[in-house]
Amino acid sequence: MMTTTTVPTMATTMAAEAEDPTLAARVSAAVRAIPAGPPLIGAGIAPLRQALAEGLRAGGLPTTLQIRVDRETLERAERCPAAAASARFAWRAVLASRRLGTSAVEAMLDRPTLGAAEAATQAVEEALTEGGRLGLWLAGLSAAGRGAVIAAATTWSSRAFTAVPWVDLGAQPLHGIANGYPPGYPQVTIAGRYDAELGRGRGLAVLLLIGGMRPAAASLDALGFTLHRGFAPLGVVVLDPSRGSVTSLLVDEALLVATVQAVVRASLASGRRLEALPMEMTPGSHCRWCAWRDGCPPGRAWLDAAPRRVNGIPV
Ligand code: SF4
Repeated sequence: MMTTTTVPTMATTMAAEAEDPTLAARVSAAVRAIPAGPPLIGAGIAPLRQALAEGLRAGGLPTTLQIRVDRETLERAERCPAAAASARFAWRAVLASRRLGTSAVEAMLDRPTLGAAEAATQAVEEALTEGGRLGLWLAGLSAAGRGAVIAAATTWSSRAFTAVPWVDLGAQPLHGIANGYPPGYPQVTIAGRYDAELGRGRGLAVLLLIGGMRPAAASLDALGFTLHRGFAPLGVVVLDPSRGSVTSLLVDEALLVATVQAVVRASLASGRRLEALPMEMTPGSHCRWCAWRDGCPPGRAWLDAAPRRVNGIPV
C-alpha cells in the first residue's frame, strides 16, 4: 500500500533554504504510521530464500554465472527482458541532485555554518576536479545547466538536511546492502541500499530511503535487507527531497514474495543475455536508452517507426 504526501516545490533556492518546517514532521509521522507487526522473522524468511533458490535453479543457468540485480536491472527487465543486463548508464539531473546533494549534506555536517547553496556549489566543483563520469557529465553542461544542477542539489540538500535527523543515522547512512547466494546456484547479488534503519529492534525496523525511488526499487531494498539481516522491515519510508514528498511502503509477505519473483525474472533475463541465449524482446520507448539497441532488430524497427518528436517535430 502506498501513501504519499507532497509539499509544493519551492520556486527558488533561497526559498528552499528557508525550508518547509513540516517536512521533518511528515517523515516522523510516516514512520509512526507504519503498523508494528506482526514482524516477519527467522523461519518466516526461509520460504523466501527457498523461492529464490528454486526460481534460479529452474532457469537452468550455469551455476558459475555472477549476476547483480539492482534497481535499474529490475526496472529494465520489467520493460524488456532482453535489456536486463544492459550496462548503459547516463547521469541525469535527478541522479546528480542526489549524489551532489549527499556530498553537500556531508559537508554541512562537517561544517554546520556552511549553507546549502555553498555546499552544493562546492560539491559540483569537487566533482569537476575529480573527473569521473559525473565530472565529465557536469563539464559537458552549459553554465546555465550547471547552475540549474547546483540549484537542484541545493534544494535537495537543504530539505534532506532539515527533514532527517542525520546525527542519528548511525554508522551506515548511504551505504549499500547486498546478499550473495550460496554456491550451487547462479550467484545472484541483490544490490539494494538504505539510508537509515529506524525502529525499535529486531523485526521492528523501518527503512528510510532518501531519494525519489519507485515502489519496485524500494521493495528491492526491503528484500535485500530481509535476506541479509534475517528479518523483514515493517515498512519503508521514502523521502524525496527534490519533490518534497514523503512516501511510505508497507512491507509484508506478499510484497516480498512478489519481489523475489521479480528478482528471479531479472536474474534469469540477465543470465540469458550474458550467455547469449534466445530472449523475449518487448520494444518500446525504453529502447532509446538501451545499450543493445544498435544490434537489436526489433528495437531498431520500433525506433525507426516512432521517431522522437518535440512539438510534433522529429528530433
Ligand atoms: S533495443 Fe529495445 S527491444 Fe531491443 S533489447 Fe533493448 S529494450 Fe529490448
